[in-house]
Amino acid sequence: MSAVTLEEVDRQILNGFRFLRFKPAIEKLFLQDYAANRVRLAPIWAIVGTLIYDLVYFGDRTMMADVFSQLVLVRFGIFTPFALFSVIALRRWPNALNYDLLAICVAVLGVSLPMSVAMHSGSPYLFVYQNGNVAAFLFFVIALAPRFPTILIGLVLMCAVQFTTTKLSGAFDDVVYTGIITFYVTLTTFLVLSAYFTEHKDRLNFLNQLRGSLLHVQLEQKSERDELTGLFNRHSLDRVRASIWRKNGEIASVAVIMLDIDRFKLFNDVHGHVEGDECIRAVCQCISREVAGNGTTFRFGGEEILVLLPDTNCEVASAIAERTRRSIESLAIHHRGLGDGHVTASLGVTCGKTSQETLEDLLKTADAALYEAKRAGRNTVTVARPSAKLLQ
Ligand code: GH3
Ligand code: MG
Ligand code: MG
Repeated sequence: MSAVTLEEVDRQILNGFRFLRFKPAIEKLFLQDYAANRVRLAPIWAIVGTLIYDLVYFGDRTMMADVFSQLVLVRFGIFTPFALFSVIALRRWPNALNYDLLAICVAVLGVSLPMSVAMHSGSPYLFVYQNGNVAAFLFFVIALAPRFPTILIGLVLMCAVQFTTTKLSGAFDDVVYTGIITFYVTLTTFLVLSAYFTEHKDRLNFLNQLRGSLLHVQLEQKSERDELTGLFNRHSLDRVRASIWRKNGEIASVAVIMLDIDRFKLFNDVHGHVEGDECIRAVCQCISREVAGNGTTFRFGGEEILVLLPDTNCEVASAIAERTRRSIESLAIHHRGLGDGHVTASLGVTCGKTSQETLEDLLKTADAALYEAKRAGRNTVTVARPSAKLLQ
């Protein structure tokens, strides 16, 4: 899923992230998630925001009659096309930095365009636009919700525009002007604090979600693997069977190899269980190496190994089985119970069509072939073809 480990995520949660920044690998994942979520919502906010912004047209007409045509121009000629461009640009280049840059441009433009026109108006209703800009501040922080540094810079720029254009308009005396500044500074302080805590909470949620999915993957892997050998366990056989037999009605060939280590009870008795475990591990590694890429290997029982080979006929399967038998022999693991002998294995092979045979059918036949291999003196491969006739 990712290059991030569960331990790294745990450490990040434990150490915290005071400056709203994770370690690089986790930060990269967070930014991918952040960009995907924001870009997904961008068209909605563009439509809602622009619609409300443009509806102020009716207020402009009655309250700002003397600069009405300029206001129409900035709303419909500049802001609306820019909002449209932002959505298209984000679709084309969807990443966190572009989102933040466009969010800040939309917010600053949204405030500065009408204010820079309104400041030339002699309208007595200029104070109404002071209220209107509160909506722009809230839209930027709550709806667009860029990252914290962007919010901080954006709000400072928006305040600067607000204070400058209000001062230059000359529409308010010093007492009202000071009141406006006090109000916007208070609003900005609240918004900055809430933005910090919101992002902190979002980041913590992200870490917990990431931890949950990594834990899930780990548990799934653990529940499917045999601890001693690292091979798949019997429990995972159902999943692999489903993937091979899923092609309903479609004729697919599949081969099965059943392997059992020879005289292993005796090996345990002579060498002890610890060495016995090591022997099983070494044999399983050897089988994995030989099967690699051709099929899936399961620890079927104590020292019984099952190999499922999809899209494989009996010839190829018996060649793989024979190669595996020789490889195990050449590991040359000394079996003191057999004097100078070494550890060997017997293998039963069969194959069939998924449309004609179930896995249970094939397992039964492969087991019978394995039994024949044991009877034939061990350290041998026996193939049972679909006709169920045993062939040496
Ligand atoms: P054969 O050649 O007929 O297969 O003889 P065998 O002695 O190998 O007989 P069998 O396959 O029935 O023996 C299985 C033995 O494998 C029994 C058990 O002591 C041993 N065994 C099973 N699981 C483990 C394990 O996880 N570790 C160890 N050390 N031994 C195991
Ligand atoms: Mg055995
Ligand atoms: Mg056995």
